Amino acid sequence: MSIRVHEDRCIGCGRCTEACPGNLLLMQGTDAGRKAKIREVRDCWGCTACMKVCPVSAIGYFLGADLGGSGSTMTIERQGHYYHWHIRKPDQHDVTITIDRENANQY
Ligand code: SF4
Ligand code: SF4
Repeated sequence: MSIRVHEDRCIGCGRCTEACPGNLLLMQGTDAGRKAKIREVRDCWGCTACMKVCPVSAIGYFLGADLGGSGSTMTIERQGHYYHWHIRKPDQHDVTITIDRENANQY
């Protein structure tokens, strides 16, 4: 499992670099061309912290066979205190799970 930064969506805010507990993300480029990049994909343990802070859902997460099917990808969309976890399966079947951050610790 690992993440991938979609550079076409990244606005270069740098929030993900501050959120990663392993310091795995860095910024490359200057000014408007500044984009996040992961140093080594194999070092990522999939905690999703970077995805949760990204304001434009620019980070995708590849799910293993045990987590929704090989080849599935997930992005997180923030909307107020809700997280929408969008999962796209290899057959293009989409699933969305919505979590209220204010109630997340109840489950
Ligand atoms: S998923 Fe977690 S470990 Fe992987 S790059 Fe993002 S913040 Fe770092
Ligand atoms: S948080 Fe999202 S938009 Fe900001 S630098 Fe990281 S990937 Fe790009």
